[in-house]
Amino acid sequence: MTATLPDAPNLRIRPIRAFSDNYIWIIDNGKHAVVVDPGDAMPVFDALESENLSLAAILLTHHHHDHVGGVLELLKDYKATVYGPALENLPACDVAVAEGDSVTIESLALTFNVLDVPGHTAGHVAYTGQVGKDSVLFCGDTLFVGGCGRLFEGTPAQMLASLDKFAALPESTKIYCAHEYTLSNLRWARTVEPGNLDLAKFEAQCTQAREHDQPTVPSSIATEKACNPFMRARQASVAKAANHWADKVLANPVEVFAALRTWKNEFR
Ligand SMILES: [Zn+2]
Repeated sequence: MTATLPDAPNLRIRPIRAFSDNYIWIIDNGKHAVVVDPGDAMPVFDALESENLSLAAILLTHHHHDHVGGVLELLKDYKATVYGPALENLPACDVAVAEGDSVTIESLALTFNVLDVPGHTAGHVAYTGQVGKDSVLFCGDTLFVGGCGRLFEGTPAQMLASLDKFAALPESTKIYCAHEYTLSNLRWARTVEPGNLDLAKFEAQCTQAREHDQPTVPSSIATEKACNPFMRARQASVAKAANHWADKVLANPVEVFAALRTWKNEFR
């Protein structure tokens, strides 16, 4: 008889829809599960109970209520370890994490590395690692498909540096962000770069997905680098559009980024 390797756990990543446009991500192996940013407990309970999954861990990216609002209720029923940003006030947190830390969830044989990505909030973190054969990124409200989070507690320079960390990840990395904002982001992106053919093609794909009520998330680092103006603040075409919108010559990528963020905030 030949020895066989144990089967690699069959890991799945799925969205749990919450509120009007949040995605709570659940990773499971048919037995154990981890959830990212459970802003609401009820849909998470439904997802766990319908497949008889036990909750091993909760990963939190930042303190906003629509990301942490379900944590305490989930902990009443499940003995899950909560990981969250060291610099933020959270309803519960067993392991405070910051850049350089890694998070290992043994029951799922998963390890994530933590990145500090301030900008949307001051202590926002992201989790990146391998799930099965895929490189993945759980980025909360830092990067969206075609957009980025609003700067509630950070500066444009911080947010640009945070997006630069994402840009350095492998291009195939799948991006699991926390909201379905894609179509409105891409409508604005097309105003910034009307000549970007990758963007036009991607927008058509996403429009079709939404017509069928499919999520447009995950996207990938490669797609965001090709289509997302905030990831393209150093591209001449984007800088030129930002200069035109601001009606002045913006001196550097941080100024371009700041102008893009204000432009998007005001875009209707
Ligand atoms: Zn947020």
